[in-house]
Amino acid sequence: MTPLQVRRWVIAGGLLVSALYFGAVRAAQPEREFRETLYVFGTLVELVLYGEDEVSAAAVTAEAGRELQQRHRDWHAWQPGELEDLNAALAAGESMEVDPRLAELLREGQRLSCLSGGRFDPGIGALVELWGFHQDTRPEGAPPATEEIEALRAAHPSIMALHFDGTRITSTDRSVQLDLGGFAKGAALDRIGAKFLAQGAENAVLNAGGDVNVIGSHGGRPWRVAIRDPFVWSAMGSVDLQPGEVLYTSGNYERYFEQGGQRFAHILDPRTGYPVAEIVSVSVLDTRGTRADAAATALAVAGRADWPQVAADMGVSAVLLIAGDGSLYATPEMLARLRPVGGGFPAEPQVVPLPAAVPDPACAAL
Ligand code: ADP
Ligand code: MG
Repeated sequence: MTPLQVRRWVIAGGLLVSALYFGAVRAAQPEREFRETLYVFGTLVELVLYGEDEVSAAAVTAEAGRELQQRHRDWHAWQPGELEDLNAALAAGESMEVDPRLAELLREGQRLSCLSGGRFDPGIGALVELWGFHQDTRPEGAPPATEEIEALRAAHPSIMALHFDGTRITSTDRSVQLDLGGFAKGAALDRIGAKFLAQGAENAVLNAGGDVNVIGSHGGRPWRVAIRDPFVWSAMGSVDLQPGEVLYTSGNYERYFEQGGQRFAHILDPRTGYPVAEIVSVSVLDTRGTRADAAATALAVAGRADWPQVAADMGVSAVLLIAGDGSLYATPEMLARLRPVGGGFPAEPQVVPLPAAVPDPACAAL
């Protein structure tokens, strides 16, 4: 396929939520692919199975669909369900018994938040709500009042305030409201991937609006996933994913609102209470969606100065950042895997080797 054909397909497909798989187009074996699309976690989730007979593929994806809907209900902070109930309990200073899967996700959230130095923090739900990013639709109008932002920042709500007694959860701080939007998709796709493997589905792509887990390969070729160029309606590069790898991108180009020429994006810096501005897109190549998703969010918050240390501390090594001025930063591990689409990268990537991780005993104890 020529770059031009790729481009056309990208634009024609309307799937440019930041990822696509070229392999699927080139293979031209539609009878061997089974696709299912659902709307969960505020995005279209596409499940593609390769090489399965239609009956078993339909059964496997139907079950995955039910699991995704259930995770959406249990893990969505702003719609009726378990997490909304937990948030109400925490605000009232009460404890609540939760499903073991939610308890495990919250523990993982604490570990990841700790490793990120508080840049990723699913305890900032009140801030997310204040900015209006709790709904699937884009917020309109003016940013919230400075005093309201400042009040929430000063309260410093954090997932670190949660205490676990088995699956019973309490918080030492009533201002904590959980919003798992920064890593719920990754955790859900990890669960679906494990289910697929357990059910014998050996070749599949799970794509949640550009956040992708792959299983196996695509007819002997790796699944090829594109990374969107946040400035134009096109892909800027692609990565061939090995079996079990994931590629997650967080960016400020999809969910944001604009006022007075300024863009306010849905990734918030818990330390300031304001949306991140410097970094437009972060992609993380990893082997676990939960960590990749959290890390992509954390590195967007970390910004140009701090992201290499935060990446090292969170344990991710293949990272691509795109800054607002168009600069590209990539770790050697990412650069070795990233291929330009359309004749070259939009800018020469600056190669950034990561420093050694600085282990924090407090995080290791979680
Ligand atoms: P996307 O959903 O586009 O993949 P992210 O994975 O970065 O993007 O998730 C952004 C969502 O995470 C926001 O909509 C909000 O619900 C939540 N969020 C925003 N800022 C943070 C943060 N600093 N830490 C944890 N979660 C956050
Ligand atoms: Mg994320």
